[in-house]
Amino acid sequence: MIIISACLLGIKCRYDGESRFDKELLSLIPDAIFIPLCPEQLGGLPTPRSPATINNGSGPDVINGHTKVINSIGDDVTEHFLRGAEEVKMIAQLMKIDTAVMKEKSPSCGVNFIKQGDVLTSGMGVTSALLYSVGIKLISSEKVAEDYVRYYHNRKRH
Ligand code: SF4
Repeated sequence: MIIISACLLGIKCRYDGESRFDKELLSLIPDAIFIPLCPEQLGGLPTPRSPATINNGSGPDVINGHTKVINSIGDDVTEHFLRGAEEVKMIAQLMKIDTAVMKEKSPSCGVNFIKQGDVLTSGMGVTSALLYSVGIKLISSEKVAEDYVRYYHNRKRH
């Protein structure tokens, strides 16, 4: 089983009420059982919702309490982001899942990049950072082929 950002499976959980269904991505991991989760919804945020950005930092800074997540109308949604990340981590640990395919560029799910407004910066989203901190292997939605081979196929050989 592999956790996946729910929007990648076609679930309309994005801030704008849409999905980011990625058929090609799924074809790269044909034999997986995916568990779709949306940390922002699990954290109690509605859909649609105002888009949010991490204020001067990335996921680890939010987890460490060094910065906050603020939405486009100025509300502090840090607690929702942290709660959603904890829920995803708890589900992963309960189900003994050690791999997650995460939607790149999201302030929750980004693996290598997050969007801060219109600017793309290096760094992990809040949920990806928490999953990474407990040893869960992260596969970027934009690097599935490389990351999947690196983690999953290597693991199968051992
Ligand atoms: S929080 Fe993650 S799963 Fe939810 S819509 Fe954003 S990128 Fe997709």
